[in-house]
Amino acid sequence: MNFLEERIQKDGIVKPGNVLKVDSFLNHQMDVFLFKKMAQEYKRRFAGKDINKILTIEASGIGIASVAALEFGVPVVFAKKTQSINLDGEMYIAEVESFTHKNVNKVIVSKKFLDPNDRLLIIDDFLANGCALQGLLKIAEEAGASVEGIGIAIEKGFQAGGQLIREKGIQLESLAIVDSMDPETGKIVFREQ
Ligand code: 5GP
Repeated sequence: MNFLEERIQKDGIVKPGNVLKVDSFLNHQMDVFLFKKMAQEYKRRFAGKDINKILTIEASGIGIASVAALEFGVPVVFAKKTQSINLDGEMYIAEVESFTHKNVNKVIVSKKFLDPNDRLLIIDDFLANGCALQGLLKIAEEAGASVEGIGIAIEKGFQAGGQLIREKGIQLESLAIVDSMDPETGKIVFREQ
């Protein structure tokens, strides 16, 4: 098991409805020393990619992406979630269905912060059905930016997102892939990587 899998095994809580709670180190309290190790692992896995910016989505992606941005020495931009329909043309916009909240948000990035010269690494905490990533990919495409790779902390491999993204031919690196988890017993099985 790698360091993240070990931490999930130790502190993760399996909830009904295919939700893994990792509030004590990732989604509420943040273990930034763990984030640093994750950032170093992304740097290793995306070595050779000419990344000039990190793109993430609020809220839980921001902490991980910020520490990764320090490691890569690049700025980080986060897509903002908004319910507002009064958005002007100076924004890239995508609709994202939230896995955890079951609602649809518009996510926006100002045109000031993404353009065709950008070579992005997209970072997020979880990959479930892939809606959040699809939204970020749409925004990148609208901006004309290239996506050099996607770094995820925890992929739930039994949900559709991972396959969907890999089929697009994008390098997707998930530091832990959960193949199954049982809310009754708390047992979590990770995919061999
Ligand atoms: P997707 O858009 O891939 O369906 O879901 C990804 C987003 O939903 C992530 O940004 C994350 O915030 C949230 N999410 C999905 N599954 C889980 C989960 O099992 N636990 C937690 N804490 N968040 C999740």
